[in-house]
Amino acid sequence: MDGKRILVQKFGGTSVADTEKIKNVARRIAETRSKGYHVVAVISALGDTTDRLVELAYQITPRPRAREMDMLLATGEQISVALLSMAMHELGHEAISFTGAQVGIVTDSAHTKAKILDVKVGRILEELEKGSVVIVAGFQGVSLDDQITTRGRGGSDTTAVARAAALGAEVCEIYTDVDGVYTADPRLVPEARKLSRLSYEEMLEMAATGARVLQLRSVEFARNYGVVIHVRSSFSQEEGTWITEEDERMEKAIISGVTHDVSEAKVTVFDVPDRPGVAAALFKALAAENINVDMIIQNVSENQRTDISFTVSKEDLQKAEEITARVAEELGAGGVSVDRDIAKVSLVGAGMRTHPGVAADMFAALAENDINIEMISTSTIKISCVIRAEDVEKAVRAIHAKFGLDRGVVMRA
Ligand code: ASP
Ligand code: MG
Repeated sequence: MDGKRILVQKFGGTSVADTEKIKNVARRIAETRSKGYHVVAVISALGDTTDRLVELAYQITPRPRAREMDMLLATGEQISVALLSMAMHELGHEAISFTGAQVGIVTDSAHTKAKILDVKVGRILEELEKGSVVIVAGFQGVSLDDQITTRGRGGSDTTAVARAAALGAEVCEIYTDVDGVYTADPRLVPEARKLSRLSYEEMLEMAATGARVLQLRSVEFARNYGVVIHVRSSFSQEEGTWITEEDERMEKAIISGVTHDVSEAKVTVFDVPDRPGVAAALFKALAAENINVDMIIQNVSENQRTDISFTVSKEDLQKAEEITARVAEELGAGGVSVDRDIAKVSLVGAGMRTHPGVAADMFAALAENDINIEMISTSTIKISCVIRAEDVEKAVRAIHAKFGLDRGVVMRA
């Protein structure tokens, strides 16, 4: 290569929602080139194209086969890369578009949720060297047996980070319709502030607990390969949020943000015998069907019987309920109930490790607002509570205010 640095720029669906926006993206890429960078652009499907493709499939059949789903969904990104390449040509820049298969994003064969196995860079480097902008379809790849695969909703983020890692890019810029990661969802909390910097660990917890800016797997990938991410808006020139390794010299906020998630439901098994092997039997059966369980609580037992509750994604609820009912019967449990009207509210911050009392303050904020906590789980830098769904806005605002995040006062560790 010619020694020029490489930037990977990922543009999400809202950034390429129509042809005017595609032209805007082309101008941004042109600006980046004028600063002396090689650009590899990773693009999502136009606007809500992927949603519409999913709807079309379900109009045909309630059970589309995953392989055909991938054939269908991959078309979305093929449209956007071609249009963006044309827009670059109009600006007088050499550019070439590729599908995931053409430039070697090799995945396993788990259709609609494929994992990346290998990322080839030869073809991309060749084109960069010729002076072209390389425009790659996000979200899609090719399996070892030459099938088209996709990587789960929001998968273009991970495609972009994987590309950046393989190419040794200086930064992976994620362009979206918000100008960074906020201390809370600004639609719920107008006072929420943009965070200028977050560690991988903090961003992982935020993505896992409902911050929708980045796909969780993209953050895992970035941490594992040390890819610096810059989340920013495609509609402004402002700096967004940098996601990097935690830096010991850097001042650390005790609390980074409050997140919420209404996509989960709670399943409870009543009156289960309290003996070794019960939880193992239940969660093994769920894992065997690829169902991710998030929070789990087991009550104190009375007369050798207890209750177990856990949360799963609403998408998996039906399957989870069937499996749990079957296992409950085998175990001689009293019964199973499901509850869709829950929400999870979480507080994330690296300073929690060294500051006692954070959990107590969070619970107090909920109590002061008469919000009941149904489940609690913690990690070293996160506390999550399950509450009633109807209380979620009130809870996020109360916790955000309790920790002074509204006032722009950032508490430093
Ligand atoms: N187009 C896909 C989706 O909407 C992938 C992405 O946007 O990241 O999920
Ligand atoms: Mg999309």
